[in-house]
Amino acid sequence: MARIAYVNGHYVPHRHAVVHIEDRGYQFADGVYEVVPVFYARLIDEDAHLDRLERSLEELRMPLPKDRRIIKMISSEIMRRNHLTHGFVYMQVTRGVAPRDHKFPAAGRPSLVMTARQMKPHSEKQLQEGIGVITLPDIRWQRRDIKSIALLPNCLAKQQAAEAGAAEAWQVDSDGTITEGSSTNAWIITRDNKLVTRQADHSILSGITRLSLIAAAKGAGLAFEERPFTVEEAYLAREAFLTSSTNLVMPVVKIDDRPIGNGYPGMMTMKLRQLYINYVAAGSQKPSGKKAAA
Ligand code: PMP
Repeated sequence: MARIAYVNGHYVPHRHAVVHIEDRGYQFADGVYEVVPVFYARLIDEDAHLDRLERSLEELRMPLPKDRRIIKMISSEIMRRNHLTHGFVYMQVTRGVAPRDHKFPAAGRPSLVMTARQMKPHSEKQLQEGIGVITLPDIRWQRRDIKSIALLPNCLAKQQAAEAGAAEAWQVDSDGTITEGSSTNAWIITRDNKLVTRQADHSILSGITRLSLIAAAKGAGLAFEERPFTVEEAYLAREAFLTSSTNLVMPVVKIDDRPIGNGYPGMMTMKLRQLYINYVAAGSQKPSGKKAAA
């Protein structure tokens, strides 16, 4: 079945979907994006993702390129045309096409591109094994809260992880604390059973899965702290895991070749994964990326 993409008002075959070479996204990474997960042919936390998109755009001094209702219609249409049941809808907004010049064009028209991608759910085997992560210096800019398409440091980090046989890289700030993964948020469960993840300020992206899991964990009465944690603390944690729209809650069993806990996915991590899945199944739309972001 041919994949269909949406490019600036047109639904086109994915392989013919193109933007101009002077699109500012291509020239300057002058744009932002969102990845909205889809389970059972339903978009998860769509409003929270659109809130975050709107907020990222505000930081770039751009409005939403279309009314939110229209963006939702395009999302549904792109899902329908691609028969999407499990995977994600990708949306990208750039400042559009203009002669190359760093300052903003006087009368620009933003580019809006949307695609849909079908993905296999994680296998039981993957979940039972968990994943390994490495740590490396966080070399990104100071506004990691903006979901910018400038992802070169993230790509370098993910590549380094892959070359080390790991699934993700946990980035470390100059003060020795872990910020987040290259495309995921980082969490630990301490020896005294506290759930810990970094506060969503400018140092990390405020993950929507992170927000939903916080809501689910609070609802379940779990002890929870939002604060930075060091690499040393992570090595000594009882459990560790990461979150993202495509990973949901994924157990981390090794950090830099050191086994975490007993080296197997933690019980509390798997409980949290189930809590998150229940939350998604219930169709909750409560947390908002806009309100929660710094
Ligand atoms: N941090 C970074 C740097 C990311 O790219 C992502 C994925 N977009 C996340 C965290 C997780 O965010 P979400 O839960 O919204 O997918």
